[in-house]
Amino acid sequence: MSPVAAPRSALKYLAAYPPTLQQQAQQLLDSGRLADWLLEKYPQAHGLRTDGALYRHVEALRQEHMRQTPRLDRVLYDSKIHVVRHALGLHTLVSRVQGGRLKAQHEIRIGALFRDAPAPFLSMIVVHELAHLKEREHDRAFYRLCEHLEPDYHRLELDVRLYLTHLEAGGGRLWAPPAAA
Ligand SMILES: [Zn+2]
Repeated sequence: MSPVAAPRSALKYLAAYPPTLQQQAQQLLDSGRLADWLLEKYPQAHGLRTDGALYRHVEALRQEHMRQTPRLDRVLYDSKIHVVRHALGLHTLVSRVQGGRLKAQHEIRIGALFRDAPAPFLSMIVVHELAHLKEREHDRAFYRLCEHLEPDYHRLELDVRLYLTHLEAGGGRLWAPPAAA
């Protein structure tokens, strides 16, 4: 057995998980099997490639499950969202001047990384941002709402974090679209 080679910092996305889980992730990473493990579990990318398609998807979910929240004005992929720290996505209430008056705009921005990702990963981040329309903090009420919207929420968040760990360790994007000929 060789000593652990990958930098510990690659596991920063898993810092909140138990040590045994972090060890398993480190082993998958060290043995070079993490990418295959992810691809086997999630073979396909979703097809929502435009902001328009993303908007319709998220707004339909909001209408179905969170009718009491205000209509979303914009939903978009944002390549400026840095996945480091907590910011996988952002939900904002922006004030814009419209016709000489200040108007509140409800926006959800999804990290562009999730454009090339499997549908369950997109679902996880969308549910997270939608839940913030009602619950600001990452507290019990927030996670209860996430689980209500997506029963697999916690498992999916772990798998998203495993993918981020793979990228952080220098791995390539796993669901990037085929390069144009
Ligand atoms: Zn959050």
